[in-house]
Amino acid sequence: MDEVRKRALGAYLGLAVGDALGATVEFMTPREIRHQYGMHKEIVGGGWLRLDAGRVTDDTEMSLALGRAILESGGWDAIAAAESFAAWLKTKPVDVGNTCRRGIRRFMADGSLSGPVNEGDGGNGAAMRIMPVVLSALQGEGSLHEQIIAQCHLTHNHTLSDAASVALGEMTRQLILGGSVKDCRNIANELIEKHPKFSFNPYPGRASGFIVDTVQTVLHHFFATDSFESCLIETVNMGEDADTTGAIAGMLAGALYGEDGIPMRWLEKLKREVAEEIRQQVDGLLRLSR
Ligand code: MN
Ligand code: MN
Repeated sequence: MDEVRKRALGAYLGLAVGDALGATVEFMTPREIRHQYGMHKEIVGGGWLRLDAGRVTDDTEMSLALGRAILESGGWDAIAAAESFAAWLKTKPVDVGNTCRRGIRRFMADGSLSGPVNEGDGGNGAAMRIMPVVLSALQGEGSLHEQIIAQCHLTHNHTLSDAASVALGEMTRQLILGGSVKDCRNIANELIEKHPKFSFNPYPGRASGFIVDTVQTVLHHFFATDSFESCLIETVNMGEDADTTGAIAGMLAGALYGEDGIPMRWLEKLKREVAEEIRQQVDGLLRLSR
């Protein structure tokens, strides 16, 4: 159990570290990043949101909101999840994606837990916040996949967003349970077999908020590197939606390399209240999973 907990902490803290690291260079091109930072590898804040160093954005905040709902309900509850997102939106977060905002507002207006299938919902905003669902449903592959899709549909109803979120969730689940990179390769191959658009060999080199670009960037760098640090640095230096590619890469790499694999200088930078809530949620969600 101790090893499972270390990898679970690695994944959740890794998500937040990747968000905080990537936010500095969000919406920049790789060329602009090189010009300004050489290689961007420190959590220094700034960026278009003018963040304090160690501050996280919507990727981590929505994950925490979802985790709170699961813990308070004692398990997955779509209404509680939607209410928690609504409560988060009312805090006037530093950043909210348009698709997320629209979905939360729809729930607030009519109580519905999904919008209709929408071509415009192919962003990465649902995939970025699956972490707490993975932890609370760690033992059940089938229920995890159902819960991931239900949480996605609160704001995003799109086949590629659903498929990517399930694949990323299943990779994270297997890694936390002690699975290997090879297991992740198999899951990636299944995803690409069903949806060839996700193929990342050769790597197209785009890191936008479109779920296909995001998944290609994360998986290419996850499989091409051999440490948490190199995976995250290579990923966020692709720029574009760097906080979100950083967050998702951090979740996968953290699940693989564990909490001990995250550079101390990055963990120390993370806002204390965020790191503390993550630790509490990991323990609470793992308890629920048993
Ligand atoms: Mn963000
Ligand atoms: Mn983002």
